[in-house]
Amino acid sequence: MQIVSCPSCGAQVQFRSHASVVAVCEFCRATVMKDADAVKDLGKMSSVLEDFTRIQIGTAGVLGGRNFSVVGRIQLRYAAGMWNEWFILFDDAGTGWLGDSSGLYTVTIERAAPGALPAFADVNPGHQYAIAGQRYTASEKRSAECIGGQGELPFQVGAGWQARVADFRAGATFATLDYSDGDTPVLYTGGAVTLEEMKCQLLREDEQIKESAGKYHGKLDALECPSCGTAIKYLPGVTTSLVCPSCQAQLDAAGPQAQILAQGEKVERVRTTIPLGATAKISGADYQVIGAMVRADNEGSEWTEYLLYTTRSAFFWLVETDQGWSRANVMSNWPDWQSSGADHADLDKLSYRKLYDYPATVKFAAGAFNWRVAAGDVVHVFEFENGQTRLAAELTAEELTWSRSTPVAFDQIAAWFGSALRVDPARKAATEALPASAVTHKFLWWILGLNAIPLIFNFSGTVIYVLLALLAIYLPAKLFGSADKGKQ
Ligand SMILES: [Zn+2]
Ligand SMILES: [Zn+2]
Repeated sequence: MQIVSCPSCGAQVQFRSHASVVAVCEFCRATVMKDADAVKDLGKMSSVLEDFTRIQIGTAGVLGGRNFSVVGRIQLRYAAGMWNEWFILFDDAGTGWLGDSSGLYTVTIERAAPGALPAFADVNPGHQYAIAGQRYTASEKRSAECIGGQGELPFQVGAGWQARVADFRAGATFATLDYSDGDTPVLYTGGAVTLEEMKCQLLREDEQIKESAGKYHGKLDALECPSCGTAIKYLPGVTTSLVCPSCQAQLDAAGPQAQILAQGEKVERVRTTIPLGATAKISGADYQVIGAMVRADNEGSEWTEYLLYTTRSAFFWLVETDQGWSRANVMSNWPDWQSSGADHADLDKLSYRKLYDYPATVKFAAGAFNWRVAAGDVVHVFEFENGQTRLAAELTAEELTWSRSTPVAFDQIAAWFGSALRVDPARKAATEALPASAVTHKFLWWILGLNAIPLIFNFSGTVIYVLLALLAIYLPAKLFGSADKGKQ
């Protein structure tokens, strides 16, 4: 470790890694450069946006038997959102980067890159490339701007510093080509990690996260839509992209004041089955529905996707279709899919058969998302199946993502969200339009179909009681139905 005096305020500034070139003074935010024996002040660094990350300078963990600690951070913003790159220092003096984007983490380490590497312009998500002797699929390419920094860093960054990066995947292996310094990229390789498996310590606590992000945004839980004034309660700051549930204005909540990116299209408001803001305890963690969107395929079938957020782990989605509910997680271990024309994708020695591919268009979106979503956005979806499990690849010109989904029983959804659940408006309208007796029948069949079947199968001796109970529900309804008819 080397300690120097800040040329601007005189405070002590630490350089813990020999690889560090600059360090941001904790007290006055001067960017201090360590240059041979002299120390220079390169000007003030913008402070980082208080987001909902659990990591902080000083967070420590273990990776592959090596202890590391977080010594620096840059925060980057690109067209679809923002992410953090944490500079980590291993006990053996090696360094690396811990990427932190919407609760998904990767650790990458700089490598020598033997052989030719693709030019930035030639990288297309979904296409395959040979990098350092391994076949990778391009997952994302983006140009980003550094919006703030903290701690010590291995290169000089300042406001407006531009990063050009392309990400690649091969199974669970991750590669990044960084073109920020010119046409010859720097190669980093690594993999997806979780804070739990790295046994991370000195993480920020939930209360600390909420308080700091809340302070930054002025109010703890609410933000007023600058377009229509509606209070938006879905944890502004957890992501920077918001769609006002009331007027559909597209908002950027990266600063203390939300900015309008685009006025809302005149789309009909959708009353979703799970309302925005609904909370549930799932696998011991507190989740909140922060975003909901309705998407449609090219044949007009629509489905609803709910984005669930917790400070404890990554986002996940609940998907509601005519056929039922499923839970979808973004995958960090990618299936092997030879090309976008291939009829199967392989993962963990299982082959998933391709079902169909179709364009999916966003019809309606409301709340907070981990990318900039708007009605009219189109992605191309490729779906694969093996047993009950489905894999989906979603491809755009900028990005390829994989998710895995498994069915969730409606009873489970009801148990999670309880009274917050709302009856599907379409179904409600349909039942309202039917005569009372038909409603009763429908109700009876609903009970038989959805609720009683597991009970009947599990406790076959109780079948007769279940049927008697159902009859008891059915008969009075039938009587009331007749009485209603009599009144008309
Ligand atoms: Zn200072
Ligand atoms: Zn609004």
